[in-house]
Amino acid sequence: MTLLRNTNKDQWCDYCKQKWGTVKGNQWHPNAMKMAYWKCISASPMRRNQVRFYCLECAADLQNWPDGQFYSLKEQLMDGLHSVATREQLNVELPR
Ligand SMILES: [Zn+2]
Repeated sequence: MTLLRNTNKDQWCDYCKQKWGTVKGNQWHPNAMKMAYWKCISASPMRRNQVRFYCLECAADLQNWPDGQFYSLKEQLMDGLHSVATREQLNVELPR
């Protein structure tokens, strides 16, 4: 699994989109339009290079995926977050 900083301001958090959905049929809920902070690329035999985008808040909930499945990614996420946060010297609240 690879965690990258998302730099596309038009790329919104997948989890927020899933959580808030659309209003009036085809417009995103205002809370769903949240710029993604992380670009997460999962590489596994089952899910090759699956890409998801998350804001900081949703990254804390990354192990509970929007499709309802539970992934024991916490250790990987923690390692990724810590390495990125350390390298970039980010002042972020990391999930425990
Ligand atoms: Zn989010």
